[in-house]
Amino acid sequence: MNLLIVNRLQIYYEFIKNHTLISFFIIFTLLIMINIDFLNLKKYFSTKRNIVITTHRSPDGDALGSSLALYNILKELGHIVNIILPNKFPYFLDFLPFSSKAIIFEKETEKSLKLINEVDTFFFLDFNTFSRLDKMSDYVSNKNAYTILIDHHQDSKIQADQSFCDTNICSTAELVYDFIKKMDWNISKESAISLYTGIVTDSGSFKYPTVSSKTHDIVSNLLSFDIDHSLIHKNLFDRSTISRMRLLGKCISTNFKLYSEYNSAIIYLTKDDLKEYRFIKGDTEGFVNFPLSLDGVIFSVFFIEFDDGIKMSFRSKFDFDVNKFARKHFNGGGHKNAAGGKVTDLNLVQTIDYFSSLLSKYKSELS
Ligand code: 5GP
Ligand code: MN
Repeated sequence: MNLLIVNRLQIYYEFIKNHTLISFFIIFTLLIMINIDFLNLKKYFSTKRNIVITTHRSPDGDALGSSLALYNILKELGHIVNIILPNKFPYFLDFLPFSSKAIIFEKETEKSLKLINEVDTFFFLDFNTFSRLDKMSDYVSNKNAYTILIDHHQDSKIQADQSFCDTNICSTAELVYDFIKKMDWNISKESAISLYTGIVTDSGSFKYPTVSSKTHDIVSNLLSFDIDHSLIHKNLFDRSTISRMRLLGKCISTNFKLYSEYNSAIIYLTKDDLKEYRFIKGDTEGFVNFPLSLDGVIFSVFFIEFDDGIKMSFRSKFDFDVNKFARKHFNGGGHKNAAGGKVTDLNLVQTIDYFSSLLSKYKSELS
């Protein structure tokens, strides 16, 4: 292993020695890719722009909160701004200021395409691959417009004109806050509500390891806008529907499996369960955390069966990397302790069987 690394380093050294100019060019290009040029951006936004902000499918509080905060600020600055979401956001996020302005691509495809046609600037928020835009993906990724990516997911596959990304930060909302500050733009009370929501949602109410003193500094500043943080928490967590309670009961009482040998647990919902308990979008938000709250469980998965496939949510504690697991086996990704994935060629039973068969390969990591 060490020998391999030494060999590699020798190869790199020889290459740089023999191709100094090319190497310099490659390193310079890489630096440009990971850097963001705020001076140029400030100049860029001194002209009125036609902007579309977009984020990932099934937007959560971070995705929608970040988008709405930026929407509000850019509008105040006099730009033409639209938010286009691949699909609907959950009902409990409707309290976010300007959420009714979001255009849903799945429902309003023609209007969305017209706006995408006219756009000169895209903001891509909170996603790392165009596949997370679903049907919208082709229209956005092929469009010749100026692109700005703000994201905190691992293994980004998006090359934007400007990238403001950091995988160590717990929410895109924190990055958007930083971005706004670096641009010398003003935060409004409405945008503070949206950013606070983004941070609370993606930090698990400030409990994930990626929460830092800087997270709290940002929150402290957001609270200075006189936002009602108790009301935000109430809106986010205390507006359960009866269908949510019943679906959770179903998961906990029967649709649950413990793999004690692997410190793992799963819950699942079938298409029939969704029908029987009258599922609405947003009902199952956070369900995946219930198995993880069991003493000793370090890996939990929630499977939900829709008409177009099985959606999976992965969560872990400590070092087990669910981003890698989701990417390798379930066409997904995300973060080390929270990721998602999907399966379209197996039914629910087959997907769970396949998942179960994988666990033995990870025994040492899950012990
Ligand atoms: P959730 O389980 O809440 O849907 O997602 C957990 C995290 O993984 C979120 O940060 C979400 O953006 C990301 N994620 C969910 N599904 C996918 C997927 O299919 N692909 C990728 N790359 N990320 C995903
Ligand atoms: Mn996020």
